[in-house]
Amino acid sequence: MKKIPFLELVTPHLELEEQLVSVFRSTLKTAGFVGGPMVEDFEQEFAQFCETRFCVGVASGTDALRFALIAAGVQRGDTVLTVPNTFVATTEAISQAGGWPDFVDIDERTYNMDPHRLQEYLETQCHVDRATGRLLNQNTGRPVTAIVPVHLYGQTADMDPILELAERHRLIVIEDACQAHGAEYFSRKENRWRKAGSMGRAAAFSFYPGKNLGACGEAGAVTTNDESIAERIRMLRDHGQAQKYYHDLEGYNGRLDSIQAGLLRVKLQHLVEWNRMRREVAAGYHQLFRPVAEIITPPYEPSSCNAAYHLYVVRSKCREALRMHLAEAGIGTGIHYPVALHLQKAYLGLGHQQGDFPITEKVAAEVLSLPMYPQLRPEEQQRVAEEVLHFSGRAVAM
Ligand SMILES: *Cc1c(COP(=O)(O)O)cnc(C)c1O
Repeated sequence: MKKIPFLELVTPHLELEEQLVSVFRSTLKTAGFVGGPMVEDFEQEFAQFCETRFCVGVASGTDALRFALIAAGVQRGDTVLTVPNTFVATTEAISQAGGWPDFVDIDERTYNMDPHRLQEYLETQCHVDRATGRLLNQNTGRPVTAIVPVHLYGQTADMDPILELAERHRLIVIEDACQAHGAEYFSRKENRWRKAGSMGRAAAFSFYPGKNLGACGEAGAVTTNDESIAERIRMLRDHGQAQKYYHDLEGYNGRLDSIQAGLLRVKLQHLVEWNRMRREVAAGYHQLFRPVAEIITPPYEPSSCNAAYHLYVVRSKCREALRMHLAEAGIGTGIHYPVALHLQKAYLGLGHQQGDFPITEKVAAEVLSLPMYPQLRPEEQQRVAEEVLHFSGRAVAM
């Protein structure tokens, strides 16, 4: 019986082998390993893809988020709001930018930030300080200055109400678009589709190999329409210098590697097609899972979203048993994410407890990510569905 892995990265690389190797060869001839035209060309092309004025390549998605928060003006001690249902890099970046991460719960259908919970947080847990005009959290006294909505699993957060609340309370919005390359959101307010990464003051992308657009190593980027933010990030990624050895601020070593930029340029040409194939895989699963609705809940894609399906996440009350059954059948799965961030050991210091974000906690116990990649074949999906069906027969009998 042939195994069906959760993620298969060899095929797309072998398909592009010649082009990828030639990037490496031409780099050897110039030894231009850091900076240079390959980085600038990629930045221009990715900005165009995201429909933003600027893109600044950095060393990882985590760097992208951290630099975007710093460049947009988050100060030490500021509260930055995000969701507890995300990868830990979101809160790492907030803390490392000097901020204090705090959470609002997610929507049970989309698994993304619930704008109603955000509104409730801003209007019942905060007040405006008379003397400074700043929004303060009533319990901690800390200023609340930014929001990081995450476009999780490749699906855009509900940005219209989030942006409206941010405008009303003068908050910075930095999108975590690390799982959403090419995803789109239909803004009712603007009556148009908008690209993930073009809606906040700035947005962070990761090109970790398993992402929809992945490097052959570590890489990331910030997109923005704000020239001063782009300028500041160019300095932050390069030790705070615009001119060699003249350091206007203390920065980081967070540049995008030239070879990775060259490899990303090759792959970017296939991203639209790969995302289309992912959507096809998702549509196939939707169809196949109709008969097992009592066992698994497929992802819900609102009409305002054109998802990039970084992951295909279903929910099941008997997740552990289903996962084990699939593993025995040679089908790989993942869990994104098994422990809500507010309950992670690393964040005990934030003072949260079980029950604080009930939707995230409930979802964390039920989500299961099925095999999802552009090259997944219909007969492989068929087998995944058959095994789920097989399992559901057993589960009903139990
Ligand atoms: C992958 C990811 C990141 C971090 O990206 P790296 O390139 O691994 O640093 C941040 N946020 C989310 C939601 C991610 O999935």
